[in-house]
Amino acid sequence: NRDYIGFATLPDQVHRKSVKKGFEFTLMVVGESGLGKSTLINSLFLEDLYKNRVVPDVNEKLQKTTTIDKKTMEIEEKGVKVRLTVVDTPGFGEAINCEDSWKVCVNYIDEQFRQYFTDESGLNRRNIQDNRVHCCLYFVPPWGHSLRQMDLDLMKRLHRKVNLVVVIAKADCLTSLEVATLKKNILNDIKENGIQMYEFPECDSDEDEEFKQQDRELKASIPFAVVGSNSILEVAGRKIRGRQYPWGVVDVENPKHSDFLKLRTMLISTHMQDLKDVTEDVHYENFRAQCISQISQ
Ligand code: GDP
Ligand code: MG
Repeated sequence: NRDYIGFATLPDQVHRKSVKKGFEFTLMVVGESGLGKSTLINSLFLEDLYKNRVVPDVNEKLQKTTTIDKKTMEIEEKGVKVRLTVVDTPGFGEAINCEDSWKVCVNYIDEQFRQYFTDESGLNRRNIQDNRVHCCLYFVPPWGHSLRQMDLDLMKRLHRKVNLVVVIAKADCLTSLEVATLKKNILNDIKENGIQMYEFPECDSDEDEEFKQQDRELKASIPFAVVGSNSILEVAGRKIRGRQYPWGVVDVENPKHSDFLKLRTMLISTHMQDLKDVTEDVHYENFRAQCISQISQ
């Protein structure tokens, strides 16, 4: 059933009070233009967030640096509400001034922290809207051998500020063997360059075996190789989100075709609360400490 995402399990993860209030979650996508960011976001959240998007003409593209495109939607499943914000950063890598494109991403993250910090020290602390970026999906192109210098540079700007989750874009362009090799090389580069990715928490020892197995498979799939699509196809009487090729159909949600389902389950169901916790306890705390030390100087 493709209308079912799975966040109804969220109440298990937190206090009932926050369930009543609803969840606020912000996801940012970063990466070069044309890697399928908007398409993937669409596929993840089943709604055509980007329907009205106007493709800028060449002139406009040349003049523009990276601009932020923010969309918010309320999704509800079995009485559990999530206010989901997706922050798209189109055009990265196309901008003439590359320097500006990472600044836009970093500034956006900082700005949300600053707003939260201001609100937190204000009078109405109970009803603060949390617009902090809880996760950043970093898109790596499928056609390289590993990360490029510009990927490494941008990741270094981001990794202390946000939960970085690396994804291999357009994984349907690669064979299974190529995916495995690229994953290995990317992990290697990340390690060698001291980049701090979002660290998936240890699985509780009292979880059942099925959950533990799922957790192992999730961790073994990092960095997730994803495929996105905006088309619903009918295959053998079943409607699927897929990509039609002359030789066959790539089914976005088929775990044999890509890690899309793992990524969605992780974001929306199993790890949303942890992503929020790490944002609060690590990234925001870093920011707060900096603010406070600046004030006291
Ligand atoms: P963005 O600039 O990163 O937001 O990329 P878009 O989502 O606009 O997609 C750019 C192009 O790539 C479109 O023609 C999409 O149909 C195509 N595309 C998106 N996702 C995939 C994918 O997973 N595989 C393949 N092969 N093409 C994709
Ligand atoms: Mg886009």
